[in-house]
Amino acid sequence: MLTGVACLAIVCVAIVAVLAGEMGEPGGDSVRLANSRLALTFDRQTGALLSLMNLQTGDEYLKDPKLPGNPFVLHVDPTVIPQAARDPGWWSAEVEEDLGGLMVSPGGCRVISLKQQSSRSAATVTIESEHAKTGLRQTLTITLPTQAEYADLTLRVTNTGSLQRTVVTAFPHLRGLSLGPDRETNLGIMMASYGTPGVRAWANSGGWYGRETSMQWQAAYEPRLDEGIGMIIMDPECASKLIRRGPGGLLSTLHYPGTILAPGASHVYPTARLVVHRGTWRVTAQRYSDWYARAFRVRKPPSWLKDVDLYYGGWIPSADQVARAKRESPSDGFTSFERMPLLYRDGPYDLIEWAMYNQGVVDEPESYGPYMGDGLYLFRSDLGGPAAMREGVRRLHAMGRRIMFYVAGNSLLRSSALLKGQRPEDWMLMDRPGHGYDVGYPNGFSVCPGYGPWQQHLAHTARRILAETGADGIRLDELAGFVPCFNPAHRHSSPYDSVRWLRELTRTVRAAMDEVNPDAILLTENPLDAVHESVNGALQMFQPGREIDAMRIAVPTMVGMAYHPGAVESALNGWIGGKVTARRVTWPWEHRGLAGKPDWYADGPGPELRWHELRASFPEAIGEGRVATTDPSAPSDPRWVGRLWRARRYWLLVGGTLDAAPLQGELRVIVPGLPARIRRAVEIDAQTLRPRDADLRRSGGMATIVVRSAVSAVIFPMPDCPPLMDISGELRARRGGEITLDMKPIPLGGRLPSRVRITCPGLIDGSLTARWPGSVRLVVPPDAMIGLYPLRVEGDSLPVKRWIRVADDR
Ligand SMILES: [Zn+2]
Repeated sequence: MLTGVACLAIVCVAIVAVLAGEMGEPGGDSVRLANSRLALTFDRQTGALLSLMNLQTGDEYLKDPKLPGNPFVLHVDPTVIPQAARDPGWWSAEVEEDLGGLMVSPGGCRVISLKQQSSRSAATVTIESEHAKTGLRQTLTITLPTQAEYADLTLRVTNTGSLQRTVVTAFPHLRGLSLGPDRETNLGIMMASYGTPGVRAWANSGGWYGRETSMQWQAAYEPRLDEGIGMIIMDPECASKLIRRGPGGLLSTLHYPGTILAPGASHVYPTARLVVHRGTWRVTAQRYSDWYARAFRVRKPPSWLKDVDLYYGGWIPSADQVARAKRESPSDGFTSFERMPLLYRDGPYDLIEWAMYNQGVVDEPESYGPYMGDGLYLFRSDLGGPAAMREGVRRLHAMGRRIMFYVAGNSLLRSSALLKGQRPEDWMLMDRPGHGYDVGYPNGFSVCPGYGPWQQHLAHTARRILAETGADGIRLDELAGFVPCFNPAHRHSSPYDSVRWLRELTRTVRAAMDEVNPDAILLTENPLDAVHESVNGALQMFQPGREIDAMRIAVPTMVGMAYHPGAVESALNGWIGGKVTARRVTWPWEHRGLAGKPDWYADGPGPELRWHELRASFPEAIGEGRVATTDPSAPSDPRWVGRLWRARRYWLLVGGTLDAAPLQGELRVIVPGLPARIRRAVEIDAQTLRPRDADLRRSGGMATIVVRSAVSAVIFPMPDCPPLMDISGELRARRGGEITLDMKPIPLGGRLPSRVRITCPGLIDGSLTARWPGSVRLVVPPDAMIGLYPLRVEGDSLPVKRWIRVADDR
């Protein structure tokens, strides 16, 4: 046998050592790869990772390199199924260290070859090591780009022995990490749903990709030292895996279930990118975003979705309520789907998703509650069926409103006509062998998202709903989250392939919808990056606290639809709002590690904000812009939280107290990185929409402004930024009455334009062109329905949106 040193091979493609990164001397005990930002050192005898240095901060991250792992652990012929894989209620993020069988870690291996290569753009080391007892050979390749704050690690495992082996691999599996001397102060992200930063770094956190983690990355960071580490698993195939952090500085991805390796066979694991950086978790999130955008073709939103500022999910009145309306108010009550506009008139919602539109509500009212899955989703006969809904949708569109429909992604009534002549067991989602998954739906059970006939049925249903009604979208409730399925009837190649099934399912549904209306949107309940190629967005429920949610940076095109959050949280995270009131009143997931309502956070829904109108002026920033890596801050009032969005013609600061509590007078806010050519700042109050100058000052390279509002937007115009429009005064009239639109300019530096286009569907046919500054008289038609109408003013100015109220004239 050759020794590790004897078979060492060095290949030097280029000798530009300064550019290519530094490497250790051949023949020493270790080999080191370094650029100006990070360095990795490996043991030449075993191939173990000995050191992971942040060269920008001088911090050695691997405080305890001798633990198993660093950078992988192979569980060979394991005898233990981890609790994560056998207990459907598992959420602890803890995975057994020992799965029985043999544990292979670099410390117990011997290097048989080590190759170094460098070029102008990167340095690469390939370490081949062998585990004598099992005959497994590991080929670990580390690539360090010259100009990046990350290294890419790839692992191939080959069975060189004569016995078949089952291998469950944790790669990377870094142990003993600590940012700075005290790992207890390090922070991480609760990576379920949109991702909540600010949790303890080295506690059990994360888990199955698709459930406890919605994206393929994890991060830890230390604000005191302005540094962090991230792990990105670059797997476009979305194989099942557990991505997590744990006590003792553990950062690990367990590729589960394992791979069977016949003699001579190999398996290559997805490349892991280790990010070692200055700054917060947002650096890793941005690197993930870079990879994700190349690896996935995301579903582009239809242009109309950019005009949606407020959304909610409503229920069509019950069969009893409809029967009563037919008796008591047949001429103006909600007696037919044709009168859908009645359900929109009092709220400034651009888009509403409706449940309880289906015939099951009439046929089996006792089955209806929090879930509504009769399976067929035929339009209710008591409200006129699909023809009436088609007319209702037409009328909504004429008023500038949008409509979508609820479809349950898992749940189905046992009595559903879909199951007639079928064996329900064939459809069932079995979260463990022989056991149906149960979400507690009365008379219901759950169907497997990986079951072909169900995928086809959902596709057919979505297509039919759009074709029959002309609606704008479908939301697949309950999806997209990881649930394993052990139903033998489905012949799944692995019970844990949930993410892949959800991709198939959403692709199938999306393709069917596209046949009818490619501009219709598809939403799910939970966000999962893997389905974003078919899905536009998902509901947002969980509080990100003072931070922006992680997905807003990592997958910024995934649209967040606020469900529990109040207007302040929606404003701070760039979501489509769900409420006009300022505060969150529901604080879910305390049992899953999220903090509940803080003591200082005021009770109740709080004041009404007009953020849903204000945000419509800044689509360049909130819809298409990028949020700055460092938030603005107000050192004298820690209650204040802000974001900075960068657009081409302006920057936008959105800030306020999380519960909309008034400020104690003026507050000076630091605005990091503000370009020198920006010389003005205008604050617009989110409650009154009144503008005021925000006193921009610069001193010692630092820009500051003064804010006064509890919640506001501050625009920082570039020299070519068009003016904003100040439309104040009450926009309210009776039927047949008049509204005067007084359009005053707020000059922001650019040329003052002279013409704008005004639309107000439902009140104005087509559009009006008007000169401004100036005022326009709008006459409300005498037969207009009372309620709210969206007014938009567009042109060379920044866009403006306001809701006009037509009031009762009695
Ligand atoms: Zn299944």
